[in-house]
Amino acid sequence: MIIIFIGAPGSGKGTQSLVFSQELKIPHLSTGDLLRQEVKQQSEIGKKIEDILSTGALIFPEIVNELVEINLKKPECLGGCILDGYPRSLDQAKYLDGLELSQQMKVIYFDIPKDKIIARIIDRYSCADCGKIYNKALNPPKIENVCDDCHGTAFVCRSDDNEKTVLTRLDEFYDHTYPILPFYENKGVLHKINADQAVNQVQNEIRLLAKNY
Ligand code: ADP
Ligand code: AMP
Repeated sequence: MIIIFIGAPGSGKGTQSLVFSQELKIPHLSTGDLLRQEVKQQSEIGKKIEDILSTGALIFPEIVNELVEINLKKPECLGGCILDGYPRSLDQAKYLDGLELSQQMKVIYFDIPKDKIIARIIDRYSCADCGKIYNKALNPPKIENVCDDCHGTAFVCRSDDNEKTVLTRLDEFYDHTYPILPFYENKGVLHKINADQAVNQVQNEIRLLAKNY
């Protein structure tokens, strides 16, 4: 089963992906993470996309499609995975369909009002060791400056998590990603959850859905 998390930036996809990847014992494939990794390694792709990534605009579809295809076909993904941040346009959704993968797909849409997004993103940070995602005001670790999961004490912020970039990313979401929903609704695989509630409540809603998958 490929579980696709679709939602505005900051809607909580990464937070829930980490939980369900462990719970369902399937990999978490985040296109944002894959692209940031390319930049960090200063690969050919990384050099090409670095400036675009810092503006919040979408990366060329041929680059993202190829990265996803390569990763989805790896042995560890053959039993399923959580796809986070892809597809982000109707063309990407059609590309994914065209791969004719043997796994079934289910799509979970993280529904959240636009005005909740900015606070979630500009205060986001994560554990430098295990990647667990936090928020200064809304979702801090239980003990200040100590990761709940791995007890690491080093944290990092994303360079694209600033107010200017968030506005571009939101525009990209409403212009290109939100219009994918009818595509999946027509296929009968779309489920909407209320992402505007506490992390564990969102988790419970997803858990109920996943039980029926
Ligand atoms: P996305 O992957 O969709 O961009 P994240 O999972 O990274 O979103 O979450 C964005 C920010 O919102 C993070 O700072 C995270 O700690 C916080 N967050 C995630 N889910 C919730 C929630 N249900 N309630 C409050 N804050 C949340
Ligand atoms: P995310 O980590 O999901 O917030 O993505 C961070 C950035 O990576 C986005 O603002 C885009 O620039 C780029 N990106 C991630 N996924 C995609 C995608 N499917 N298509 C195009 N660009 C993407």
